[in-house]
Amino acid sequence: MLDQLPIPVYKCDTQGFVVSYNKAALELWGMEPKPGESKYGGAWKVFDADGKALTSDHCPMARCLAEKIPVNGGQVIIQRPDGSKRRVQTNPVPVFDEAGEFTGAINTLVDITETIQNEEKQAMLATIVDTSDDAIVSKTLQGIITSWNRAAERLFGYSEEEAIGRHISMIIPSERLAEEDYIIGEIVAGKKVDHFETVRITKAGLKIPLSICVSPVIDKNGFIIGASKIARDISDRKKAEQQKSEFLSLTSHELKTPLTSIAGYLQILDKVTHEESSRKFIHKARQQVQRLTQLVADLLDVSKIEAGKLHLSKEIFDINKVLRETTELVQYTQQTHRIKVFARDKPTLIYGNPERIEQVFINLLTNAVKYSGDSNEIIVSQEHRNNHVYIRVIDFGIGIPANKLNEIFTRFYRVDEFNRHMPGLGIGLYISRQIIEKHEGDIWAESELGKGSIFYVKLPVVTQDIPLENTAIDIINKEKTELNERHDLR
Ligand code: ADP
Repeated sequence: MLDQLPIPVYKCDTQGFVVSYNKAALELWGMEPKPGESKYGGAWKVFDADGKALTSDHCPMARCLAEKIPVNGGQVIIQRPDGSKRRVQTNPVPVFDEAGEFTGAINTLVDITETIQNEEKQAMLATIVDTSDDAIVSKTLQGIITSWNRAAERLFGYSEEEAIGRHISMIIPSERLAEEDYIIGEIVAGKKVDHFETVRITKAGLKIPLSICVSPVIDKNGFIIGASKIARDISDRKKAEQQKSEFLSLTSHELKTPLTSIAGYLQILDKVTHEESSRKFIHKARQQVQRLTQLVADLLDVSKIEAGKLHLSKEIFDINKVLRETTELVQYTQQTHRIKVFARDKPTLIYGNPERIEQVFINLLTNAVKYSGDSNEIIVSQEHRNNHVYIRVIDFGIGIPANKLNEIFTRFYRVDEFNRHMPGLGIGLYISRQIIEKHEGDIWAESELGKGSIFYVKLPVVTQDIPLENTAIDIINKEKTELNERHDLR
């Protein structure tokens, strides 16, 4: 019957010799005890709880037999012949027969190796959490804070006692409360929220920029029971970014004025110089000044975007006309390439800023030329579908690796390994995306390395039933054109 028991049990006689044991005890010891030889237990070697070798006379079973009293809750480490060690709790109790005669002791052993390992692991994790420089906070799915480490105390100003049990909204600024719904929504769906940049509020009312990562907390049955959040203070980084953007804005402003003067002087020189070789140099100098002016304008745009100050005045205009004109312009300056346009003649009206849309097309077309490799053909097409206009700029050039297709739209990003020798700062597509997004549109790229790329621009078109405010703008636009035409006639 004892063999059915999952817990190791054995009996020693009054001398301490092992007289009987069950299967679980055998498994624990990893060997058979020797009759008349194994004393106080069947283990190969025994150590105390601190790992020091234990002489058999000092083990709990020896004490129980000597004093004839139960010795509960002692801990020993036993080593098996294969070298593996198990930590066990020992509970020897003296045994008396019916006549009250002392006959020995029975010991039940509880293997606590895993429990202790888990406790040690927990303690180690707790130390890591406690000494982390990042705030680590956990909460239930209802947003109630369940843990709050020391870095969280330092960052948010609330002590652990103050924070636990309160709702996480205590550190969320009122205008950002909706973020919590989004985060919990992702967590409930079993997803992680990675490097989410936001702002939280301290006990003293100070707003701090943070980068947070939130992961679901899953119980042993696999149920999502809460969320754990790691928050990193990014105030220094934000400050550095702001300084960089201020520097960018300042220098581009400062460069603009002398550049305009140089351009003006070169224009005058061009007019008054008649000697052919000098004119050639003036022409080249003017081209370079124009490039520099464009670069400065782009840098200025980046700093405007960063400061959230890229404002566009909008009107209703024909995007086909802008597309045709831009293509003609680029074709005129890039005579080495052939740009074919497939666009319908009928106007396609969109509501936006024609100069900015032109800027996007110029960027896409000059990129198509710049990265065309050995090919010299570029195709531009326009399609009208589901109240949207789709413009495609297709080249047969060097192409873009698939994992870079989204990154090329980020600030200062260039696919370095392919275009180190090409001029550029890697901001054209970044600005283009911002412009298109400000038109409720979309811009993306498809590509095959070595075969070419397709850049798409998708924009909403103005439909027949123009909203009231657009109708008014439309009328104003029309009036403006008529006025200009009348002015031209005079
Ligand atoms: P720039 O051309 O000044 O580097 P952009 O922002 O216009 O900056 O483009 C970012 C990067 O995307 C380029 O450096 C280039 O690596 C890649 N790229 C853009 N257009 C194309 C294209 N048509 N073919 C291949 N690569 C391109």
